[in-house]
Amino acid sequence: MNASIRIRAFLTLLTITAVALLVGELVTTPPISLHGIDWLLVGVYALMLIIAQSYPIRVGSQSINIAMGIELPMFLQFGPIITLAGMLVAWGISKAVAGKQIKVTSALANFGMYTIMVLGAAAAYHAFGGPFPVHFQLPLLRIAVPVILFIIVHLLLNYFISFSYMLSLGKLDQWIRGIYWDLAALVIEVVTSWILLFFLHSYGALSIFYIAVPFAVILYMFRLYYDLILSNHQLTLINQVTARLSVKSNEKELLAALVEGTVQLVETVTCYFFGWNEDRQVLFPLAVSGPNQDIEEKMYDVVIQPHVGVTGLAFSNKKTYMRRNRDELPIKEDYDAPTPGASILAVPIVYQNEAMGVLTLTHEETNAYTKKDQEMVQILATNASIVLWNLRRFEKTQERNYIDDLTGLYNYRYFEKIIPELCHTCTREQTGLVLLVLDIDHFKHINDTYGHLAGNEVLKGIATLLKEMVREMDVVCRYGGEEFTVILPGATLDVGKQIAERLRKSIESTPIPLPPVGQAVSMPVRVTVSVGIASYPDMGDSPLELLRLADRAMYVGSKQNGRNRVAVYESQQ
Ligand code: GH3
Ligand code: MG
Ligand code: MG
Repeated sequence: MNASIRIRAFLTLLTITAVALLVGELVTTPPISLHGIDWLLVGVYALMLIIAQSYPIRVGSQSINIAMGIELPMFLQFGPIITLAGMLVAWGISKAVAGKQIKVTSALANFGMYTIMVLGAAAAYHAFGGPFPVHFQLPLLRIAVPVILFIIVHLLLNYFISFSYMLSLGKLDQWIRGIYWDLAALVIEVVTSWILLFFLHSYGALSIFYIAVPFAVILYMFRLYYDLILSNHQLTLINQVTARLSVKSNEKELLAALVEGTVQLVETVTCYFFGWNEDRQVLFPLAVSGPNQDIEEKMYDVVIQPHVGVTGLAFSNKKTYMRRNRDELPIKEDYDAPTPGASILAVPIVYQNEAMGVLTLTHEETNAYTKKDQEMVQILATNASIVLWNLRRFEKTQERNYIDDLTGLYNYRYFEKIIPELCHTCTREQTGLVLLVLDIDHFKHINDTYGHLAGNEVLKGIATLLKEMVREMDVVCRYGGEEFTVILPGATLDVGKQIAERLRKSIESTPIPLPPVGQAVSMPVRVTVSVGIASYPDMGDSPLELLRLADRAMYVGSKQNGRNRVAVYESQQ
């Protein structure tokens, strides 16, 4: 059964049970009629519930909702139906105040859960002695047993329903984390409800007014305190993520760690890092994090036009954009995202006025990101931009380190780095590799006759020829002064010989233009090369051995036999 069917089945069952209980309660119990001051009291309770819902005490990604602490005294005074109505209205209002859309599924889930919890707990309360005469002329302790039962049944039903819901969503791990905080909430709820009860009992119904104000203030202070703790936590996390990024030696790993760090920092459904594609026409995801692997795969198909949508504008204007809901114009996102995203936060990664990418977060809820979330992602983005820029600069320097200045070919450093890697790949793929070593014949003569600069032109000309005549995957290096190596991954010895012969012929037949000497125009020169061949793994089974053999073939087989020829290594050499 897939998740959406499970959720639908769960919600249907929950709603049917809740409606049945509600109808039963309405039919069997005469309605309580409210008079004058009662309305005011219900209003105060409802207000406290709204405050409790809107300012939950948040700990990490969990929040403690202490609504039950208000619900209980309300229930004792006005019975289950009014309490339930108050809770549902408070839930709706607190969502609306926060600017969140009320979805049918979550409305049904809440309706079902509240109804079953309140009516179930009420049944336990009635079974053990409730209800008491209004305004409790009884000793406080006598009320304790049914009240405690109310709390226990309330809690158990809450657990049972939230467990089933999380099970249908496949998020049991979240539920387990939730239990811990529910227990913390229970302590606060029992204390709150006991204080309310005590005041009700000792000073009458109106005393609730006096409690409502400090109650709201305390919750607000909790909220401020939490914000402080959260900021501290987020800044520490940013430091840790930055430290993690700065030890990455390749870009892919760095971006993966950045996206992962962002998801830890801000509650979000998806997070993308968009960067240029190869020809710098469109932005596409270089790293993603989504709710599951299927979605992550689809996320990689998203393509963004610069200047278009939240992400495109963030990139082009090097500015953060936050879209709070689907209709917020003019920054509508126009791509087919694999997850619905009502809220989008796009933070560019900019360094020295160059946009290197965009961190884009999406959430299916409206108003999902706060101003503070935005600030935190921006701090992380600033740190990441420095680390990314340094890594790119380092990679560029390293690349330059591997390039021969004169010819633009790879140099011997690159050859020595890449040949073991290519041999390794060939071994894994069970193919072979052929190495050619080419040495220009009588190159000294060119230098001596036409000068060193002309010699350089010849080297450049040969380099261009070699590069043009081999495949993209073949590696041409200038190994030394006038010696070149060509690595042919995947080639057989026969193919290697053909290619070597083709190179030799082409060099022999191509005149290389020389720079003019003073006023005089120089004639182009022709040179020849001697080529040695060795193949891996049948001849040399280590990269360095391979080089030695090819060199030997070039020297013994070609140079000593008159030059301008191709020679395969033979063991007697
Ligand atoms: P052969 O290989 O056919 O035996 O003769 P050769 O004349 O090519 O032999 P050798 O290896 O003795 O000479 C190589 C010459 O290449 C020596 C050196 O001056 C020249 N050379 C090396 N690097 C450069 C360079 O960067 N530019 C120029 N113009 N010449 C260079
Ligand atoms: Mg030579
Ligand atoms: Mg030489």
